[in-house]
Amino acid sequence: MGNIVAKFGGSSLCDAGQFRKVRDILRMDPRRVYVVPSAPGRRFDGDDKVTDLLYTVCRRRAAGEDWQTDFARVEERYRQIAGELSLGQGLERHLCRIREDIEAGADEDYCASRGEYLNGLLLSEYLGFAFLDPQECIFFTQSGAFDSEHTNEVLSARLQALPNAVVPGFYGSMPDGSIRTFSRGGSDITGAIVARAAGADLYENWTDVSGFLMADPRIVKDAQPIPCVTYRELRELSYMGATVLHEDSVFPVHRAGIPTCIRNTNHPEHNGTIITHQADSEKGQYVITGIAGRVGFSFISIEKAMMNAEKGFGRRVLQAVEECGLSFEHLPTGIDTMCVVLETAQLTPVRERVVSRIMELTAPDTLTIYDDMGLIATVGRGMVHSPGTAARLFSALSQAHVNVRMIDQGSSELSILVGVNCCDFEDSIRAIYREFVR
Ligand code: ASP
Repeated sequence: MGNIVAKFGGSSLCDAGQFRKVRDILRMDPRRVYVVPSAPGRRFDGDDKVTDLLYTVCRRRAAGEDWQTDFARVEERYRQIAGELSLGQGLERHLCRIREDIEAGADEDYCASRGEYLNGLLLSEYLGFAFLDPQECIFFTQSGAFDSEHTNEVLSARLQALPNAVVPGFYGSMPDGSIRTFSRGGSDITGAIVARAAGADLYENWTDVSGFLMADPRIVKDAQPIPCVTYRELRELSYMGATVLHEDSVFPVHRAGIPTCIRNTNHPEHNGTIITHQADSEKGQYVITGIAGRVGFSFISIEKAMMNAEKGFGRRVLQAVEECGLSFEHLPTGIDTMCVVLETAQLTPVRERVVSRIMELTAPDTLTIYDDMGLIATVGRGMVHSPGTAARLFSALSQAHVNVRMIDQGSSELSILVGVNCCDFEDSIRAIYREFVR
């Protein structure tokens, strides 16, 4: 029997009722033997996440302000869960130790990590699973980068000796043994690391949504769920703003050939979204898999007659961009035109410098910057097999009276990228969705 690693997000473990749901989900499939919990999340609108409270505690202590009140709220969250589930062997001892550490000046990473640590202790007691502290088996290098190979070696060996385990998310340790956290939302990464080390058949990421939707529901009401997406499609969609999973959580499982499934703890009957290497049937129900986009881009448009014959032109443009510390997002080109797409927030502080450097290095006929641009990626592995997809997309945009300012299609034919004015951004997404979905 293979095994499944199940990661539960903060909303899935925010109170005792959610702990019960998690236990029921685990009982439904005996392969779910390794569990990665987040810290308790919000129970209702306006509630605090325990992790946020812990960051506040640390900041206040460092500033010499009252941190005890917020810490008492953290303690209360765990006491309530433990009380309702009749748990908490040793909880007071752990809380007391953490309080002392904070008092003695514990750093931010240590403070933040205690949310997952305490939730992991309670969950392991509740499930009767072993507790495996990531401080002993998830490692960072001296420079603070995640040490994937050392971790995999140690963690695999530890897991092999345990028929089941709860491994708290979000943190590991530095070479000197001190705690280090991943970036926010990092329990997703821990889940993926544990899945790889356990050689899991599947990495389940349990959250409060039933998977990815084909478009942002704030823009397209009733956007349909995506049943199956490939890792490459997901990369395109997440890059353009679709977020459910932490970006860095994809790599460890993708490399190990383990599919990820996004599931809803509050609706375990939904199949959610499965993310695989290769979709079973290359074509899904629709030609496209999803649409994602972001606003806040600027286009530097450069024109020069006979640009195509001028060797090194592109290199010189990019040299100017690099010298100004910018990283460009896209680079659509024509015969005599080149367009550098950048995030406006990055460009603003060096705007004049980059313009004068491009002028010096390339002497263009014209250079124009267009601000307030949005980029929209229409992504789908099915597009490569469906002639006429681009024509449908552009006619949908033209019917919606959208002026397309830029087009870029990678040679993989996995996505078509269009640049539009910000004011047309939402209408464009709705028009594309209507054309391909309904
Ligand atoms: N608790 C951490 C956070 O709020 C990590 C996580 O939930 O994934 O960012």
